[in-house]
Amino acid sequence: MSEPIFSAATLCVQETVDPMDTSSHTLPIYATSSFVFDNLQQGIDIFSGAESGYLYGRFGNPTCDAVAEKLAALESYGLPENAHCVLVSSGMAAISAVLMALLKPGDKILTQADIYGGTTDFFNQILASYNIGFETADLNDVEQVENILSNDPSIRLIYLESPTNPILTCVDLEKLVSLAKKYNKLTVIDNTFCTPVVQQPLQWGIDYVVHSTTKYLNGHGNTISGCIIGKNAEVMQRVKQTVKLMGCSANPWDAWLVNNGLKTLALRMEKHSLNAMELAKFLSSHPSVKKVYYPGLSQHKTHSIASKQMQYFGGILSFELNGGIEVARKCIDKLKLATIAPTLGDVNTLIMHPYTMSHRNVPSAVREKYGISEGLIRVSVGIEAIGDLINDFRQSLAD
Ligand SMILES: *Cc1c(COP(=O)(O)O)cnc(C)c1O
Repeated sequence: MSEPIFSAATLCVQETVDPMDTSSHTLPIYATSSFVFDNLQQGIDIFSGAESGYLYGRFGNPTCDAVAEKLAALESYGLPENAHCVLVSSGMAAISAVLMALLKPGDKILTQADIYGGTTDFFNQILASYNIGFETADLNDVEQVENILSNDPSIRLIYLESPTNPILTCVDLEKLVSLAKKYNKLTVIDNTFCTPVVQQPLQWGIDYVVHSTTKYLNGHGNTISGCIIGKNAEVMQRVKQTVKLMGCSANPWDAWLVNNGLKTLALRMEKHSLNAMELAKFLSSHPSVKKVYYPGLSQHKTHSIASKQMQYFGGILSFELNGGIEVARKCIDKLKLATIAPTLGDVNTLIMHPYTMSHRNVPSAVREKYGISEGLIRVSVGIEAIGDLINDFRQSLAD
């Protein structure tokens, strides 16, 4: 008996056979929104969890899961316990999902005043309406932190960045974690500025790590994505469920681009850090520069903390010019190699003016306190030849 003959329209619609046995050298992109079952029983078994398998893209995708596994391995590299990772649609999705999974109404967060602007906005505009408040402190001030933790039982979690943006203050993770554990508080860190190559917060006992993988982990400025990493399998399962129900899962195209970027992460982070150190030294000795903020410089106020907990000092620095916005404008507009963009962590040098861009909505008292002046410029130092970069900054600062 011959095979049924379908019309061309039907052949168009039918899926090509999955060539899974092709032993592709690189990770394939599973561009599919769902996964099919051989028969009803298999569908029942996978839905009920009796058999493992993929069913629907928002719940899981092999490309995304492969990248998540790699990120978990990197963040827990060399540590006694393995970590779990969920890849999501952005850094903000990672931050919102982990906090939604960990907190309930009435809980409070202890954090810093100078964290990523989107995170502060999320606290103010979203969490506040679910009756989840926050309080800020200098997280290196043991007395102040201990005072808050011992007096306010509603604080459930400490949320932090180290180094912070844009003045690169580092928080002593070991000290903070010992306080958090003493008062039975959870800790969540945004490790975007460092990546696990520069700093592994889990090593110091931090409970959960979030990343905007949009930045260094991808490294090439062509995705928006994020991830959440933690050792507690049960809680990470809850995070995964939160991501599934909030609908902020990663997509396999972005996951694939992150995977590509990860292959050169160690090389890039080393070069970003070495270049940033050289540029920081050059800027420190320049007469037009009032102050340089880079944790690798011995005069940086948290240099000793950075030396203790970071493998390298990272690729971000800020510097303050003598004078106001016009002086900053002249320098920024004259730079030829650095592109002006509100992002960081790409292979090329990126420059940003916090006062008018990322921190424009920050209250002026806070800006003043943290030194975010009109003359402050943030640089995400790229991996160009350092001589070319220094020459470019030299000509941009010349009269
Ligand atoms: C960019 C960034 C975020 C937000 O990430 P998205 O991928 O843009 O959502 C969060 N934290 C830090 C430190 C960032 O630099």
